[in-house]
Amino acid sequence: MNYNEFEIIKKYFTKPSSDKNILQGIGDDAAIINSNESIVITTDTLIEGVHFPKDTPAEIVGSRSLAINLSDIASMGAIPKWCTMSISFAEANEQWISNFSKGFFKLADQYKVSLIGGDTNKGDMSISINLIGQIDRKPLLRSGGNIGDDLYITGSIGDASAGLDIITKQASLDNEAYNFLVNRFYYPSPRIMECNEISLFANSAIDISDGLVSDLSHLCNASNCGAEINIDLLPLSEALSISYPSKDAINYALNGGDDYEICFSAPKSNRKILDKLSKRLKTPFTRIGKLKKGDQVKILYKNKPYIYSSNGYKHF
Ligand code: ADP
Ligand code: MG
Repeated sequence: MNYNEFEIIKKYFTKPSSDKNILQGIGDDAAIINSNESIVITTDTLIEGVHFPKDTPAEIVGSRSLAINLSDIASMGAIPKWCTMSISFAEANEQWISNFSKGFFKLADQYKVSLIGGDTNKGDMSISINLIGQIDRKPLLRSGGNIGDDLYITGSIGDASAGLDIITKQASLDNEAYNFLVNRFYYPSPRIMECNEISLFANSAIDISDGLVSDLSHLCNASNCGAEINIDLLPLSEALSISYPSKDAINYALNGGDDYEICFSAPKSNRKILDKLSKRLKTPFTRIGKLKKGDQVKILYKNKPYIYSSNGYKHF
């Protein structure tokens, strides 16, 4: 194709926004925004072959690269507003860029996020998004957990890593359950509205990107405590349960990353109100255990210690 970098930016990344807080969007050396509230900033990168398989459809890469950043803003209890994007690809394939942009803006529009700047380069394919949110209340931190807090999970866990295995093994998708699991990898549900409301009743939170046990242990370290979780209580989807023997399903749920569900802790006195909230938002919040004294994440199965191999995703 004959486009240069500036034409690509104009055609596929520049979209008018009605947001009055954007004083300067795409088109100058930097963007300028106004904010009366505290701002919350995160960045996450997706690298082809590392974070998503080569040949993943472009529309999914666009959507997922924003979704994983939305999840970080969600876990703080904040509302996403603006983002910048640094994208590299080996060649400017117009069809790919067009589909990428479609996937990206579909999710951006859904969450009212404006793209206000970025950088476009030639190189190995990677997408790095910098997302800025606002918060008008006490943020949900990893460090806010108290011993005795109930531990909750939003949605279901284990699906996305099972889905990734299905994609990698190129299993047939004419199976409803497999399709569901693969879509959970491709389209994680950022829990923005959930966490914004949860933050009024919870003490701490983390999004599960690398696996429940691994991410929960980060929350415990930050909160200076341990935890006890019960396998019998883990929220497993029907698709995961019917597709795998229970030992494998449990392993996906404990160690599998990529679900981007939220693990949060809240005082026992808020059980009723959280149950109500969960029903109103139509997102399950499942109690899976408690924060405890100590520095270990203990896993119980039918009230006995559960032996498992810990292989939560590690980057290095
Ligand atoms: P500079 O040379 O000053 O870094 P660029 O020529 O790289 O600026 O970019 C021109 C404008 O386009 C800037 O406002 C930049 O933020 C924006 N931009 C570049 N790439 C992207 C992209 N992928 N998405 C959104 N905006 C982009
Ligand atoms: Mg410049």
